[in-house]
Amino acid sequence: MFATRFAPSPTGRLHKGHAFSALTAWSAAKAAGGRFVLRIEDIDATRCRPEYETAILEDLTWLGLDWETPVRRQSDHLDDYAAVIENLRGRGLLYRCFRTRKAILDSLGDAPHGAMEAARPGPHDPEEEAELLQRGLPFAWRLSLERARQALGEATWNGLSFIEEGQGPDGETGRIAVRPDAAGDVVLARKDAGVAYHLAVTHDDALQGIDHVVRGQDLFEATHVQRLIQTLMGWPAPAYRHHRLLTGPDGRRYAKRDRSVTLAELRAGGTTAEALRNELGFSSVG
Ligand code: GLU
Repeated sequence: MFATRFAPSPTGRLHKGHAFSALTAWSAAKAAGGRFVLRIEDIDATRCRPEYETAILEDLTWLGLDWETPVRRQSDHLDDYAAVIENLRGRGLLYRCFRTRKAILDSLGDAPHGAMEAARPGPHDPEEEAELLQRGLPFAWRLSLERARQALGEATWNGLSFIEEGQGPDGETGRIAVRPDAAGDVVLARKDAGVAYHLAVTHDDALQGIDHVVRGQDLFEATHVQRLIQTLMGWPAPAYRHHRLLTGPDGRRYAKRDRSVTLAELRAGGTTAEALRNELGFSSVG
């Protein structure tokens, strides 16, 4: 059965861009007579707050959406993610990384813009690692692309792909060849949280039976990394529908950091849910 999700992080109030994304996913589920799952992605304890989670439920209810219960809250399931890390680690696919972001940036020297995102700092020397461990310094677990490639074999590695039913930011659609090294030796367990976004999201999509991931084009690159993780873990491959990003009157996309007008502010200013749905192109909802 068609199953999709909306997976916000409770780091602020929802804005129109979130409403558009949530309505896109929810309408797809309704149109297919399928499931709609709401998932709270709150592994970042420094940025997430319970009051934002409450506000998300309030805003989405106001918008007219409904979802399966109970709602999965990622911070309640850190053991699940630790087990996946343990699995990958046991297969020799991860390495400890004690470096700071700044140290990695510095080591890249004059490397072109974007190199940081695809960085592959590599394992520490065994002696250095032993010493850093002994000193009790925090470390992240990174996925070794080299070892992942060996583990999967050339044919699988070169044949990784996903189905794009929507459109990537450059118009990509249909079967897309995965660039498995797009994000470098990606961090799968952060120093502070013991897990990182790509791992939690792929685990939960598999666990919750999500077979259609409907989300914004800003996450198109993430799909490349996520297909690699799914393949390494033997999880099913969902189809993807990346949707366009909503832009404000100034032509820029809505984002929390810009203090885009929030749904709560719109509501307080007298905007009705129906008016907002119409504005966003979902007039038949509700
Ligand atoms: N939690 C992510 C975010 O708020 C979305 C994850 C996803 O849709 O895959 O940006």
